[in-house]
Amino acid sequence: MSAFTGTCQMLTGWGRAVPSRAMVGGPIDLDDLQELVASRPSRGVLGRGAGRSYGDAAQNMDGYVLAPVTRSHMELNVAAATLRASASTSFTEMLAAVVPHGLILPVLPGTRHLTMGGAVAADVHGKNQRRDGSIAAWIDEIELIDGRGSLRTLTPEGDPGAFWATVGGMGLTGLILAVTIRLLRIRSALLEVTSRRLADLDALLAALDEAESRLPPAARPPRARRPVLRGHALVGARLQQPVVPQSAPGAPRPGRSDALLPPAGRG
Ligand SMILES: Cc1cc2nc3c(=O)[nH]c(=O)nc-3n(C[C@H](O)[C@H](O)[C@H](O)COP(=O)(O)OP(=O)(O)OC[C@H]3O[C@@H](n4cnc5c(N)ncnc54)[C@H](O)[C@@H]3O)c2cc1C
Repeated sequence: MSAFTGTCQMLTGWGRAVPSRAMVGGPIDLDDLQELVASRPSRGVLGRGAGRSYGDAAQNMDGYVLAPVTRSHMELNVAAATLRASASTSFTEMLAAVVPHGLILPVLPGTRHLTMGGAVAADVHGKNQRRDGSIAAWIDEIELIDGRGSLRTLTPEGDPGAFWATVGGMGLTGLILAVTIRLLRIRSALLEVTSRRLADLDALLAALDEAESRLPPAARPPRARRPVLRGHALVGARLQQPVVPQSAPGAPRPGRSDALLPPAGRG
């Protein structure tokens, strides 16, 4: 336990409600981490990602909180379209690493400032959830230190009980160290977005059902100023054409996401 040299810190979630104090530190070496967990400190040891959960899920009052749990580390297999990322690697880092290779994370929540560990612990979803499911559907393997301090490799086939308890388990089955996920192939980092104004809620719901795109559909909430609700459907599809070099005449104006554009010719 002596290897844990944390500091007493006040933590909250993204909602900044119910702050609580904990001993916060990390990362620490694997042997020391296993020893710490196996020593069963009275309030346990909780993994924390980027603290983007809205409530107090990543807090452990008067206990230990590992933040970060690991160092940031990635192993990308472009041919197999898979990525092994350590738990504390952020989505920002992963996207920057994979998009230039024509690959993308299969599930993109509404923020990129979260970690792989936090994403798996919360089984996050993106706008493509109806078609592609949550991140659980894309995981090949989870490396975990369980509550006894044992290092385990969980797969959906090898140990379904522990695997499915960990995905969406909010850190209660142990500390996630690394995750291997399958990636999607893309030809462009840009989206083509179709925007449709619709007469009422029925039309909006029908439009969302009809949308064949892998991405969104996203619906703006209808405004309730009048008895007949109106809707606004936004349907996005990844461009199938390679990205136009930004210096070329007629190239799209750079937007916030353009930092992730693949170099020309790789799209
Ligand atoms: C602006 C915004 C938009 C969002 N949009 C979406 C969305 O579209 N879809 C969606 O599903 N969610 C969304 N979320 C919620 C967010 O994706 C989840 O709360 C996610 O869990 C945050 O990840 P994190 O790395 O910040 O984890 P934290 O908030 O730090 O932790 C979340 C949980 O994971 C556990 N955990 C973290 N790391 C580990 C680890 N290494 N081992 C074991 N357990 C661990 C923690 O103990 C905690 O229980 C959004 C949040 C924000 C702030």
